[in-house]
Amino acid sequence: LRTLRSVASGQEAQLLIDGQWYANFGSNNYLGLANHPDLKAASAAAIEQYGVGAGASRLITGTMAPHEACETALAAFKRAEAAVLFNSGYAANLGLIPALAGPDGVIFADRANHASLFDGCRVSRAQLKIYRHRDVEQLGRLLDRSAPRATKLIVTDSVFSMDGDLAPLPELLALAHRHGARLLVDDAHGTGVLGPTGRGACEHFNLAPSAHDERLIQMGTLSKALGGFGAFVAGPRALIAYLQNRCRTFLYATALPPAVAAAATAALAVLEREPERRDRLWRHRRRCADALSRMGCDLMGSETPILPVRIGDPARALAVSDALWRRHCLVPAIRPPTVPKRTDRLRISLMATHRDEEIDRLLAALQDAGRQQGLI
Ligand code: PMP
Repeated sequence: LRTLRSVASGQEAQLLIDGQWYANFGSNNYLGLANHPDLKAASAAAIEQYGVGAGASRLITGTMAPHEACETALAAFKRAEAAVLFNSGYAANLGLIPALAGPDGVIFADRANHASLFDGCRVSRAQLKIYRHRDVEQLGRLLDRSAPRATKLIVTDSVFSMDGDLAPLPELLALAHRHGARLLVDDAHGTGVLGPTGRGACEHFNLAPSAHDERLIQMGTLSKALGGFGAFVAGPRALIAYLQNRCRTFLYATALPPAVAAAATAALAVLEREPERRDRLWRHRRRCADALSRMGCDLMGSETPILPVRIGDPARALAVSDALWRRHCLVPAIRPPTVPKRTDRLRISLMATHRDEEIDRLLAALQDAGRQQGLI
């Protein structure tokens, strides 16, 4: 039985829980934008002008100027022709996948994909072929064996949310081209974090902008590095118009509150204006990963500010997480069914706004707890 913890502060690098402060290593607010003054000001101004709710779904009367401004900014940011907002990453994946592959289609999914991608696959009723984590060769064989004329869709996280490693996007896109498939990339954890200007995994891998590649569809969330809430899909204009007509989670849900869209637009401007946030996040990541590796921790191939520490047993994972909690570091233990059996782990996620002393405290506490549990 898992229980909820109530946070009495804002979502900062330190959280106030039951009257005590804890260094927060469990958040996807990678750049600390959830509390950025520009995002707060943009939301407050939008609330003043437009109120708190959108009142209807987008196709009825819910499309407001802040939604459109946000979509234009997102398309430019992702170097795509167009973008469409969704009410959450979960809702995007649940609506998008059935719109891209129906009962006659075949979907190819990495085993470690996010739950929302799998749920979207199930709702689509397409045939589902799961390939081993990042195994391009197995995927190639599955594609070889699939019916040539079937609609084919490859779906993958860009940054795997529990492992922090990267999907081999160039190879996946090459396979998509070779087999007439589409590639849907869930860039929830890459957007704002990866690439020289934070545009995400496609920028990191230097892939051609999706405006020029009909086969590449990028989904991303506004709820992680962008600090707010909601999600989007960016791609060719015709595809976006099609999604606006076909995705049931877009059609049949009230539009995002306009202030939420305004905050995301402000977040994109901050990404450009304050690249030092991304630099600091990666500096923390390098320092932490180096120190943990030196301690002998298994970081499970992570290449990003999501740093799993493999423990391999649920009771010990909880014991280490509890020991860190007693030292005022919040690091969640992730256990099955969220991750496969025997891959129980701590999941450290870093933020640009962590202070060096918070990271020092985490490393010292982990060293002690790891020794006590015989892990290092
Ligand atoms: N995709 C991935 C890879 C995620 O990690 C998450 C959320 N943790 C989602 C989608 C869902 O996004 P949201 O939280 O905006 O619903």
